[in-house]
Amino acid sequence: MMNLFLAVFLAATFTTNQGKALQLTFPLEDGVKSIELKWQDKTVPFVLLKDKWVTVVGVDLDMKAGDHPSDVLVTMTDGRKETRTANIKVESTRFPTTELKVEERFVQLSKADQARSGREAQEISKIFGVVTPEILWDKPFSTPIPDGKGANFGHRRVFNGEPRAPHNGADLRAQTGTPIRSTNRGRVVMARNLFFTGNTVIVDHGLGIYSLYAHLSRIDVKLAAIIENGQQVGLAGATGRVTGPHLHWGVRVQGARVDPFSLVNMATSSLAAN
Ligand SMILES: [Zn+2]
Repeated sequence: MMNLFLAVFLAATFTTNQGKALQLTFPLEDGVKSIELKWQDKTVPFVLLKDKWVTVVGVDLDMKAGDHPSDVLVTMTDGRKETRTANIKVESTRFPTTELKVEERFVQLSKADQARSGREAQEISKIFGVVTPEILWDKPFSTPIPDGKGANFGHRRVFNGEPRAPHNGADLRAQTGTPIRSTNRGRVVMARNLFFTGNTVIVDHGLGIYSLYAHLSRIDVKLAAIIENGQQVGLAGATGRVTGPHLHWGVRVQGARVDPFSLVNMATSSLAAN
């Protein structure tokens, strides 16, 4: 038993790509009370789902490719603590460049807009830095628009000829007024107008997983509310920095910018609580 354990667990390697959410699972083991992963500068707990320990980590779109050996802290029921290793092997992704034309005030910012967008960026990064140590979701993750597709995650972006940050979400085709649904159960941690993303809703799903819905024409949820998988968060629109109406759907996992579809495409049956 011990040998099998050493062979499986200590040598655990998980392979993924830049810009993906990655599910990690460990088998049940006698005498284990809790498991935590040290991932970048965060501590990410594993949760016990059905018959295994599960968590999800985010690999940022700009994370260095290669091996990332990470400490796994195991606490036993008798109080002993062990440190093991999970190697997260990151392969590089090629992201194309897209050029976009938007209103000039979103590229050459006024002093006031610079100050506002700076404040909002800080506020958002503070939200994304919090790892809620439990799962709030209760079903596999789903797209905010049924059958919605959007393949421009990670694209390097040039706005009106000026290079800007890479695209940190997926843009889904949607006319103004299209209902937008939460990708899973969670708590609303932002529900208001922001400079770049217009009317914006951010939902905390737990374990450091957040979903973001931007450019809405209307917001239908309140700050701090618990909302269900598929619940309407608002209507699609064209508020903020846009070329036209659409849904910008973003997912952060422990702060990492990941393709939202990587969460939906995960082996989600094992992610459903109970
Ligand atoms: Zn977008």
